[in-house]
Amino acid sequence: MKLSNKIKKSFSLKDNNLLKIDSIAKFFIEIKDLEDLKNIQNFTSTKKINFCTLGEGSNVVLPNLLNKVVIKISFNEISIEDNLITVGAGKNWDDFVLWSLDNGYSGLENLSGIPGSIGAAPIQNIGAYGSEVSDFIEEVICFDMESNNLVSFTNEDCNFSYRQSIFQDNDSLIVVKVIFKLTKDFHPNLEYEDLNSLKVEEISPFIIRKHILKIRRAKISDPNEHPNVGSFFKNPIISLDELAKIKQTLPSIKFYSYIDNKVKISAAFLIESLNLKGFVLNNARVSEKHSLVLENKSKKSEDILDLASHIQSSVFDNYNINLEIEPQIF
Ligand SMILES: Cc1cc2nc3c(=O)[nH]c(=O)nc-3n(C[C@H](O)[C@H](O)[C@H](O)COP(=O)(O)OP(=O)(O)OC[C@H]3O[C@@H](n4cnc5c(N)ncnc54)[C@H](O)[C@@H]3O)c2cc1C
Repeated sequence: MKLSNKIKKSFSLKDNNLLKIDSIAKFFIEIKDLEDLKNIQNFTSTKKINFCTLGEGSNVVLPNLLNKVVIKISFNEISIEDNLITVGAGKNWDDFVLWSLDNGYSGLENLSGIPGSIGAAPIQNIGAYGSEVSDFIEEVICFDMESNNLVSFTNEDCNFSYRQSIFQDNDSLIVVKVIFKLTKDFHPNLEYEDLNSLKVEEISPFIIRKHILKIRRAKISDPNEHPNVGSFFKNPIISLDELAKIKQTLPSIKFYSYIDNKVKISAAFLIESLNLKGFVLNNARVSEKHSLVLENKSKKSEDILDLASHIQSSVFDNYNINLEIEPQIF
C-alpha cells in the first residue's frame, strides 16, 4: 500500500492519550515498516508540515488541534543475543518487564506497572522505586528524520539523568529499538522505603513485582477511571542552602540526596502542605490518592493546564520553588 493511503486525516487521538483529550491530529500514521518511516520526509516536505512521535500517550498533554503528522511506532519484536535483548519501540513496557521475569532475567522488577511503550522509556529515563531504566539500557537505536538514517546511541551518549535524556532536546530522533542488558543474577534493589517490609529470605523478582503493583494500585488512580498521566511534576532538585531555607517553614520536608551536593525534595509534600490535595479547578482535580497526579474530566487540554499553573504559582509564591512539569506538553 502507498504511504499516502496509510496516513489518516483529521484523526481523533482520544483513544491514544491517557488524559482522554479529544485532540484532532491533522495527519496520523502507524508505522509497521521502516520503509514507511523513510518516506515520511517526502510527505512532510510536500505538505510543509512538522511531525511528532506518540507512544501510548501516558505522558503527554495534547492540544485540542495538533497541526502535525503524528507518528506512532508499532515495532513489537524481541530478539536475544546472550544477555543483550533488543526490543521494538512499540512494545508495551510492562509486557516486556513481565516477559523479562518470565524468561529468568531480573533487574526490571522495580519498574513494574509503569504505563507506556518501550520507545518512550529512554526519553524521560523512566524510574520508580529506586530504579531507572538507564541502569539497564545498552543502546538506543533511532531513526533520524533529518538524515533519513538509523543512528545508534550508547548509554553514555544518551546522557541520562533524573527524568532526562538527550532525546528530549532532539525532535528529529524517533526511537525504533532499545537494546537492554539484563542479567540472570538477582540483586534485589530494596533501598526504597516502601520495599523495606519485604523479607529478604522470601524475595524474588516476582514477589517484588507483585508488591510494587499492589502499592501502585493503592497510590495512583487508574487512568481508565480517572484520566491522568501519572506524576504531573518532577521532584525539585535544590541546593543545600535552599533546603535549609525551606526547612525553616517546613521542618519535616522529605528529601533524598542527589549528585553535586544537591537534594531532591518531594513535590507532593510541597503541594500537600498548601492543602491542594483533592483541589478542584473546573474539570480537573488534584488526585485524592496522590497529590502529584492530576485527573482530567475534560475533552480539552485547558482545564488540566490551568490546574497545573495554579499549583505552580501557589508553590512558587509560598516557597520560591519552580515545579517543573513532567509530561510533554505538545
Ligand atoms: C498512571 C501512570 C503512572 C506513571 N508512573 C510513572 C513512573 O512511575 N515513572 C515514570 O518515569 N513515569 C511514569 N509515568 C509516565 C509514563 O508512563 C512514561 O513517561 C512512559 O514512558 C510514557 O510512555 P508512552 O509510550 O505513553 O509515551 P507518550 O506519552 O506517548 O510520549 C511521551 C514522550 O515520549 C516521546 N516518544 C514516545 N515514543 C517515542 C519514540 N518511539 N521515539 C521518540 N520519542 C517518543 C513523545 O514524543 C513524548 O515526548 C506514569 C504514567 C501514568 C499514566
